[in-house]
Amino acid sequence: MPPCDTSSCQSAREIFHELEEYYDDHNIYFQTVGSVLEAADALDIPHRLKLIITQPKNEIMVHCPVEMDDGTWQLFKGYRVQHNNVLGPYKGGIRYHPEVKLDEVKTLALLMTMKCALARLPFGGAKGALRIDPRSVSKQELMRVTRRLTAALGDNIGPDYDIPAPDVGTNSQIMAWMADTYINFAETSRKVTARGIVTGKPLAFGGSAGREKATGQGLVYVLDALLPGMGIELSKVSCSLIGYGNVGSWTARLLQARGTTLKAVMDHTGAILNENGIDAEALAQHVQATGGVHNFADATAVNTETFYATPVDLFIPAALEQMVDLEHAKHMQCKVLVEGANAPTTPRAERYLLEKGVEVLPAILCNAGGVTVSYFEWKQNRQSETWDEAKVDAQLKTIMTRSAERVLEMAERLDSSMRTASYAAAIEHIDQVYEMRGVFP
Ligand code: GLU
Repeated sequence: MPPCDTSSCQSAREIFHELEEYYDDHNIYFQTVGSVLEAADALDIPHRLKLIITQPKNEIMVHCPVEMDDGTWQLFKGYRVQHNNVLGPYKGGIRYHPEVKLDEVKTLALLMTMKCALARLPFGGAKGALRIDPRSVSKQELMRVTRRLTAALGDNIGPDYDIPAPDVGTNSQIMAWMADTYINFAETSRKVTARGIVTGKPLAFGGSAGREKATGQGLVYVLDALLPGMGIELSKVSCSLIGYGNVGSWTARLLQARGTTLKAVMDHTGAILNENGIDAEALAQHVQATGGVHNFADATAVNTETFYATPVDLFIPAALEQMVDLEHAKHMQCKVLVEGANAPTTPRAERYLLEKGVEVLPAILCNAGGVTVSYFEWKQNRQSETWDEAKVDAQLKTIMTRSAERVLEMAERLDSSMRTASYAAAIEHIDQVYEMRGVFP
């Protein structure tokens, strides 16, 4: 493939050259930095901020030896990348995945900085990862490796410093083990607030009502705010989904409750299609019982190409990064690409889709519901309060709607794509705070 010659690649190449770092425009981290710099250039953001956001503040790597159930030992590699904390403590999930790489974690940490800034949450951005296949180990092994990871991270995380949460491959049980481990290490006087070390905990142990469905719920609120302006009615549309984990399955169920037809779903076990609609609730139960969408009774198994080519109004990737590349984009027949996952669309695919007239709603807007309810959980933990779901949903709706409006306004101001506008609205806020605080010393 020829080297990328767009303005975003050009800016990124120049900055990395100045930092005497290598640059590779096929790498997801450089691509993401490039897109953020494109937004910064559209706003005349000072050069110092462009330098700052190009690299994370801290990249922590740990190795966790863990005894397996059969008496053998394995060494698991863990990462925590803390990208920026000018707006508040570092915040972001921890994922468990067998193929996770440092550049992926750096990308996701940068996106957390942008996401929290766009939603005006008092948090910076971070992301963690453990190289493990959580499906291949027992519950006891999962607990031991989680506790060991938490201990290895030590004071690099904390309720006032860096607050992890669930992500791909992690859940509320893993958060409970992390919190319990951290509380055991905490000084007596800090044990009450120590549970704020992670968000996405189980409801009975300091979690928040509405946290589990929060990312899907937030995505639906964004659609409520934006689709009418595109002349699209949520109750009349069809959609397809990549991924049926937390984000995918909640999005599907909440959209179904609004009258949307779910036509096709693809995950790591295969792809399924039913032109008349897949029952999102029944599919959630099937995935819970079997581990994937494969063999779901009320749909036909299809190949990947057919899945991408199925005509739908909304195409929603809700799994891993880069699931929509240029080849896939050429097959796709949708009106709106709604990014439920982080960084699911490659820049080349996005350019192709935008030229074809497809609207692309960016991840830092669409999936900010998760971290927003994490913020509510963290607040409740600090104040020893318990909010009901109605209060959580109402406040989530306000933040998601305002964020969507912010992106629309910026897109009009810059005459730009929604992605550039979302990064611009985020980085303008970060810039204002740096202007006020100054850069130490
Ligand atoms: N992992 C989620 C995300 O990517 C949630 C992060 C959080 O709640 O801190 O946005």
